[in-house]
Amino acid sequence: MLTEKPDSPTAPVTHHAPKAGSLDDLVCYFEGDWVAMRDAKVSIMTHAFMYGTATFEGIRAYWNADEQRLYGLKLREHVERIRQSCKILLMRDIPTVDELIRLIVETVRRNGFRQDVYIRPSFYKSTLAIGVRLHELDNELYIIAVPFGDYLDTDSGVRVMTSTWRRNADEALPARGKIVGGYVNMAFQKTEAELNGFDEAIVLTADGHVNEASAANLFVVRDGVALTPPVSDDLLEGVTRKAVMELLAIEGIPVEIRSIDRSELYVADEVFLCGTGVQISSVIEVDHRPVGSGAIGPIGRLVRDRYFDAVRGRLPEYSHWLTPIE
Ligand code: PMP
Repeated sequence: MLTEKPDSPTAPVTHHAPKAGSLDDLVCYFEGDWVAMRDAKVSIMTHAFMYGTATFEGIRAYWNADEQRLYGLKLREHVERIRQSCKILLMRDIPTVDELIRLIVETVRRNGFRQDVYIRPSFYKSTLAIGVRLHELDNELYIIAVPFGDYLDTDSGVRVMTSTWRRNADEALPARGKIVGGYVNMAFQKTEAELNGFDEAIVLTADGHVNEASAANLFVVRDGVALTPPVSDDLLEGVTRKAVMELLAIEGIPVEIRSIDRSELYVADEVFLCGTGVQISSVIEVDHRPVGSGAIGPIGRLVRDRYFDAVRGRLPEYSHWLTPIE
């Protein structure tokens, strides 16, 4: 029998969400009102619970201790993406971008956080019905915000394996939509990697190209050029991926968008992951082969350092990434 050993060094703990009991008093937005998390409950007959028919976003807000202020990161981009996910899932009556931003900011504000937080809005098919489909179902919105630390190491680099699972293709379950049911694909990848003693998985597309990590996009540095796969290679159109491209352009580092072979990971000078949860995390080993020198490389380090300064509001040139939450 396979038993999970959370204390085993082969199963690194990378999850820093607060324990369930401590969440009850947090304020969330639920079906049109702000309520305590303990009162935000859905029926087990909810369509989204039975079939995974929900969309979501993962957003971060960063606490700037010097300014005593929280900054929401890239709120508009996340809200635009969730509206696209809703369109893919045939959801109607989705609030405008400005209204959704207002609801998110208000949810965070009502909790009075003085620390980094993770925000998750989710539209879900709320009809109590059996029958797998997308049409003729109502949808509702919840927004939760919880204290959140690092999801993956950002200081010393991570070890990854190429997953034996492939990424769901656009013609099967569109990766560009952030669809709750689709995350079972990522759960297979992440669990396989952790139970085999790695920090994270790198996933290939159905045709064998490098796609992304289980919850992060990816850059590969070769000869001073930062490569990243195109959005047509079945990946989530990452908000952080775009932000990193902007940052690389400002730093004068060339970016090339093209499909990447698996073996390019083995000969790369650097590989780094980027995402809202992951932030910027350098890969120091792929499938037991050191990446470059086996330590965080100069471009990964530069991107990480600039990114963390930008998201905490320390770099005026990136202030357009941020929404102050008073
Ligand atoms: N790919 C997947 C599968 C993800 O879940 C995430 C996290 N949202 C990302 C990439 C990174 O996207 P973003 O930078 O928008 O958070």
